[in-house]
Amino acid sequence: MVNEKTKEIGIKVKMPGKSCNDKKCPFHGNLRVRGRTFYGIVIAKDVHKSATVQWDRLFNVPKYERFEKRRTKVRVHNPPCINAEKGDKVMIMECRSLSKTKNFVIVQNLGKEFGFEQREEALEESKVPEKEKEKEVKENIKEKAD
Ligand SMILES: [Zn+2]
Repeated sequence: MVNEKTKEIGIKVKMPGKSCNDKKCPFHGNLRVRGRTFYGIVIAKDVHKSATVQWDRLFNVPKYERFEKRRTKVRVHNPPCINAEKGDKVMIMECRSLSKTKNFVIVQNLGKEFGFEQREEALEESKVPEKEKEKEVKENIKEKAD
């Protein structure tokens, strides 16, 4: 049975265009959202209806009178009607525990995060596999010996 009716969830968000029959969907199922809301970027979309959202925050270090960057990563529920992809900016909201690690659900997809793919690529390129590193070091030593 597909639930055609889209519920109001109590906060001002854009309703998803599609419908779904997921019980754990705040718009079409029985899930109630309450508590905290956050904005983050989907960094992984793996198992069925799940995703990982991450965002940066600033942490005050009084001793040095500066802020340090810290990261928060949470597992969230990704309802089929929203179906956020990797690199999307999303709004998430707290709900009841949906599984051992999921206490949040995506309530709005805010579109692609600017520069996410480029950053991912740059990160991949900066990771040089250990074996190649060793080779480079050996070659350098050889050149010096010659
Ligand atoms: Zn839905």
